[in-house]
Amino acid sequence: MRRLLTVLAALALPTAAPAQQSAPITDLRYQLTFTSATAQARSLTVTTRFQVDGAAPVLLSLPSWTPGAYEISNFARRVNQFAVTEGGAALPWDKTDPDTWRVRPSGRGEVTITFDFQADQLDNAMAWSQSDFLLVNGTNVFLYAEGRSLDFPARVSVSTEADWRVTTGMSPAGAPRTYQASNYHDLVDMPFFIGKYDLDSNQVEGKWVRVASYPAGALAGAARAEFWTDLERFLPAEIAVFGVAPYTTYSTMMIFSDGYGGGSALEHQNSHVGVYTPMLIGNPVLPSITAHEIFHLWNVKRLRPADMVPYTYDHWMPTPWLWVSEGITDYYADLALVRSGVIDSTQFVELTAGKMQEVADVPVVSLEDASISAWIAMTNGTSDTYYPKGSLAGMLLDIEIRAASGNRRSLDDVMRGLYGSTYLKGRGFTSKDWWDAVSAAAGGQPFGDFNARYIDGREPLPYAAIFAKAGMVASLDSTRVVRVGISTRGDSATETVQAVTPGSAFASAGGRAGDELVRVGEIEATDGNWAGKFRARYGFSPEGTIIPVTVRRAGQLVNLQMPLKFITMTTYRVTFDGTASPAAVRIRHGILTGTVDQ
Ligand SMILES: [Zn+2]
Repeated sequence: MRRLLTVLAALALPTAAPAQQSAPITDLRYQLTFTSATAQARSLTVTTRFQVDGAAPVLLSLPSWTPGAYEISNFARRVNQFAVTEGGAALPWDKTDPDTWRVRPSGRGEVTITFDFQADQLDNAMAWSQSDFLLVNGTNVFLYAEGRSLDFPARVSVSTEADWRVTTGMSPAGAPRTYQASNYHDLVDMPFFIGKYDLDSNQVEGKWVRVASYPAGALAGAARAEFWTDLERFLPAEIAVFGVAPYTTYSTMMIFSDGYGGGSALEHQNSHVGVYTPMLIGNPVLPSITAHEIFHLWNVKRLRPADMVPYTYDHWMPTPWLWVSEGITDYYADLALVRSGVIDSTQFVELTAGKMQEVADVPVVSLEDASISAWIAMTNGTSDTYYPKGSLAGMLLDIEIRAASGNRRSLDDVMRGLYGSTYLKGRGFTSKDWWDAVSAAAGGQPFGDFNARYIDGREPLPYAAIFAKAGMVASLDSTRVVRVGISTRGDSATETVQAVTPGSAFASAGGRAGDELVRVGEIEATDGNWAGKFRARYGFSPEGTIIPVTVRRAGQLVNLQMPLKFITMTTYRVTFDGTASPAAVRIRHGILTGTVDQ
């Protein structure tokens, strides 16, 4: 999945499992029409053509979600002007469930369905348009026959302005702007960019990689060259883990938008789509997200938990394995960056410490429970915990395997082995597959206890004991910090309280959201750095000291008496142990370089 660094979209309920079957349809052809004219309405027109044998009802559905984006989106919500014809005559239709249309053919022949699809959601799993650009995902718009095999071939043609580009991971089908897929899973896993944007290609390890970025000029010049340089370094380090690059051409598809408050990307089998604030250009987060998404082309798009094989599109597919599919992908993103020199070993351990911090800052949750709960986007802060905690669990397993095997095996062997023994055999991996592979790499060492305590269970990950085996030390710095307990929004003239933390100093003084701060102790609240000055002035005063706070409430000045309150802030640090044993140093070196001892 993509990691949403900003606020999650609203949730919708999953749709019910189907108990219905369409009449068979054949020769599926889709057409996407996006022009300056449809762009004005922020929509595209989708035409679906197929053959029917007779007059039996055809049931056509749209997916409720996009694999990788573990949330129910109900794309049928954005369908307008649904119409059906056969031989030029309109056919009747109705719905049988919220995302299924029932069409009644008049007899054998070709049926044509058209609808408009709203393209106004800036989200990598959705459709989004501007006057000269469209992102659309196949899950948004490609109908399938309900209750029938998804192993049907299909063609897609794109109708657009003559001088606009089309980029997709789909295979060309001969005619211009026409593409083909051999089954529905591939069809909906290859999003489209249509319009005006920057596009260039380079060969990496003998295969083509494309970078498409919108708007034109956003990722350009030295910043684009730097992005390419990083990609050309870390991609070979990722290919090295599996020993194979399972694509013909890989497409990195990027949208930069001022209105987007972070970075989020969604993986596919031979592409990914990222949406970013332009502030991330030149920031190390951009290659980091890119390395994460590209690693998914092995881990989750191919090597996948059995409970997501095959994907089904009409209901959610919870799995306890996102800590592997997402968390270990995140670990390998860090590894690829350090192994290829995009970051140095100091930055690598800083990323590791940052993940430990993220885990410590939210309520305790087991990796399996956090994975399963992804679909309901927990509101207690743990909705993304399977990323950092899964990454750390992967690192601990890597060290344990290296320690148990005399640094002759690593987590790389587990990933590469499972890729061969499950994905290449046409199936997903089970719990037994995973733990047998981990144990085998570790020379038979059992991991049932590790699983019970740290993966299924909620015990704190044993950083100190396991890091020591790799010559690393985790330390925790605790500091007491004075806190008012509010979030504010302000300009040069006013500073307004947006939210008050329950039980905080401000709450104890009777302060409320909506109060306009005037003075906090001796600090004028209109000073842009009032909070920093407050911490400097009162950070060493005794807890409970009463200080005066003045607010403006409903136009009146109100004086409050606020007791100083402190919270304990903890900061994780990971460092290299200069006194580590030679065996531990070899393990550390192996992790950082992607090597094992012979
Ligand atoms: Zn991911």
